[in-house]
Amino acid sequence: MRTGTRSKKLFQRAQRYLVGGVNSPVRSFRGVGKDYPMFISRAKGSKIYDVDGNQYVDYVCSWGASILGSAYPAVVKRVKAATARGLSYGAATAQECDLAERIQKSMPSLELLRLVSSGTEATMSAVRVARAYTRKNKIIKFDGCYHGHADTFLVRGGSGLATFSLADSAGVPNSTASETLVAKFNDLGSVSGLLSKNKDQIAAVIVEPVAGNMGVVPPESDFLSGLRRFCDESEVLLIFDEVITGFRVARGGAQELYNLKPDLTCLGKVIGGGMNMAAYGGRKDIMEFVSPLGPVYQAGTLAGNPLAVASGIATLDALTKNAYSKLENRSKELEEGLVGTANEAGINLVTQRVGSMIGIFFFNSKDGREMPKIRSYDDVKDFCSKEQYAKFFGEMLDQRIYLAPSAFETTFVSLAHSESDVSKTIRAAEKTFQQMKK
Ligand SMILES: *Cc1c(COP(=O)(O)O)cnc(C)c1O
Repeated sequence: MRTGTRSKKLFQRAQRYLVGGVNSPVRSFRGVGKDYPMFISRAKGSKIYDVDGNQYVDYVCSWGASILGSAYPAVVKRVKAATARGLSYGAATAQECDLAERIQKSMPSLELLRLVSSGTEATMSAVRVARAYTRKNKIIKFDGCYHGHADTFLVRGGSGLATFSLADSAGVPNSTASETLVAKFNDLGSVSGLLSKNKDQIAAVIVEPVAGNMGVVPPESDFLSGLRRFCDESEVLLIFDEVITGFRVARGGAQELYNLKPDLTCLGKVIGGGMNMAAYGGRKDIMEFVSPLGPVYQAGTLAGNPLAVASGIATLDALTKNAYSKLENRSKELEEGLVGTANEAGINLVTQRVGSMIGIFFFNSKDGREMPKIRSYDDVKDFCSKEQYAKFFGEMLDQRIYLAPSAFETTFVSLAHSESDVSKTIRAAEKTFQQMKK
């Protein structure tokens, strides 16, 4: 059992002041059936430490942001130096150029870009620009993709053959939800259907090019290029939400990996290296719609914050070509180790991986079905067990391996994860699977 006296006490205290004791719902560990989450005291490299003095191998990596591992010396040094020059000016700086230049060089489709403070801001703003540019209001998103918490995106498809959309959160007006149409990931037919039913009304299709918020679901070979073709044919903008995949699956993100050019791209997570940094950008003629050049208003007091910019620059500078092959190899070792161990133990675990993004699924084999490839959120809901994942999470945590505290998230490998971290993880998995069989 984990010893969590201090975390437990802190959670009681936190609940007096903070909604549910946390500042983002997944942190409560409710999704994995825990009474209280661990409270973190610090993190270094591949390790994260709780207030009770336990050390864990960290596969959350601040939800993918900490690709170099925590407290990477060059990042800390640059951020420290920046603090001495003032924490925020709300005015233009040379360093913002340095970061934007690095982003554009790696992702040339971002001919012009704007720095913002969160992925939510990036996607929300990209959609606003797309609506202004196309003079159309509706957007298409995919079931199981997450684009932050703006009203526009908190929408799910109606069940079965329903053609309407439903708000996926209280407080989202039906009028807003009705502007968002929901298609099925890896299903071009569902997209062409929505496009033809809503002719001349769709401003944009927004997609996570590698879905990372329903486990990991890679795009099938013609899915993204099909979206590109449909968008071109219908004068609809294609938005890649690369908040996870940008500088993660390749330096140039999924658009480099699959050699495709979206009209607009959203970035976050890795480009801040653990600080509040995100961006949206794309075709010059579209981005020129943004204020002060154009009629789309979008602003931010802390946008391009000097500390976040410093962290972003130092992070991107450490991401050499060699870094991506290292990430690939380490991630492959982990994936193969987990699958091999699960097979030996007779556990129905399936992984799907793109680079250092690993999706871990437990097959729900209640009717003796074969586990298919997970291609969409329907498959995730149909075939994968949250309960099994919760067990897995709990047992792994007891053995000091920290995985995402919710099923259907991405397991992230960082450059700080060592061979011994991976073998420790696999040993823990071996024990865990024995427990799960009981
Ligand atoms: C995390 C995430 C967001 C939202 O970013 P925040 O910084 O949490 O607002 C948007 N899109 C994707 C794909 C994400 O994973």
